[in-house]
Amino acid sequence: MQKYRYWVAGILIILAGVFIIYFSKENEIKTVTVNENAAQTTEITEASTNEPSIIPDDDKVAITDLSAKYKELGLIDAHNHDASALKYLGMLRTWKDKGVQQVVMFGDVSEPSAILTDKFAWKAYQKYPNIIIPYFSGFDLHDPESLTVVRNNLEMGFFGLGEVVGASTMSPVVSKVAWKANDPMDGYLPQIYDIIAEYKAPILLHIDPPNGVAVAKLEQALEEHPKTIIIFGHINAYNTPEEIDRLLSKHPNLYADFFAGFSVYNVEGGNNPEQFIPVMKKFPDRFMLSTDSGYGIGSEKTAIDAMYQMLDLLDDPGLARKIAHDNLDAVIKAQPATDTQLELIRKLKQETGTIYHVENLSKAEAGQILAETN
Ligand SMILES: [Zn+2]
Repeated sequence: MQKYRYWVAGILIILAGVFIIYFSKENEIKTVTVNENAAQTTEITEASTNEPSIIPDDDKVAITDLSAKYKELGLIDAHNHDASALKYLGMLRTWKDKGVQQVVMFGDVSEPSAILTDKFAWKAYQKYPNIIIPYFSGFDLHDPESLTVVRNNLEMGFFGLGEVVGASTMSPVVSKVAWKANDPMDGYLPQIYDIIAEYKAPILLHIDPPNGVAVAKLEQALEEHPKTIIIFGHINAYNTPEEIDRLLSKHPNLYADFFAGFSVYNVEGGNNPEQFIPVMKKFPDRFMLSTDSGYGIGSEKTAIDAMYQMLDLLDDPGLARKIAHDNLDAVIKAQPATDTQLELIRKLKQETGTIYHVENLSKAEAGQILAETN
């Protein structure tokens, strides 16, 4: 009798589980449907993610579908967290529809959970090598072991480090992560800058606030590591065009990740994206655009629309192409194949008999071969 009761209890628990899973799935499906409709009417709405939108009602103007107009630019999203919770799986279709050709992807930032999301980013790259550009962030920059992680991951084929927290005191989320740097010269960051310069790989740094000691230390890092490419993550967030101009003028190894959604849609972004156009025109080779997965603006789709709005504001097709695609593409393609990649390709040749031309192979080309034969 006792045994029978356990069985009944067990079955009831299983049924309850199935019930919960079914209804949570149904909610997901509903969300997707709402998003699709929003895209079809080409209207900016807040109906998409769990985050509340902070776009004021009167700013929700209908826009023409700029993604159709600029689709052939091959837009690259330079800063995207969709490895977290495998969110990218739900975004692949949107990227295709909206003409986002490639995505620099990572997940969590500068904390232990990033070790797992780095693995997700890598897996995504193995499956979609033409779309995903994997970066990683799962290392404790205060631990000498971080140097091994950085070297191993770059050898394996990751294209950059990021998002790495180079300093944070203001961000409600990022200021709390366990492995954040106090400033961009903290811990083993100087040694990390030297390693990544060998690989020509960039580091995408989160720095907040974008002034004071954090920026002084960033400038020290740029000066003391002139061969290291540092990308200032969401450089336009809580920052001025004058300050961006000053930094780019002074430091040729600094690149600017422009989080378009922040300037176009976030009320804290000043509601004046036009103010950044002159500095973009002044440094045509050093800007790239990103969504930051729609952080703080309600949805990643809206953040993609904002990238196109910035390109439209440029009103210069040549410059739009550079900022949408070419500048970041050049940073990625300049990275040579690593010894580890070449060794794997040699093994592949032995196993399959296929001839690969490995002279002057780039990391991207080697990564493509390895992903396809994986
Ligand atoms: Zn971010």
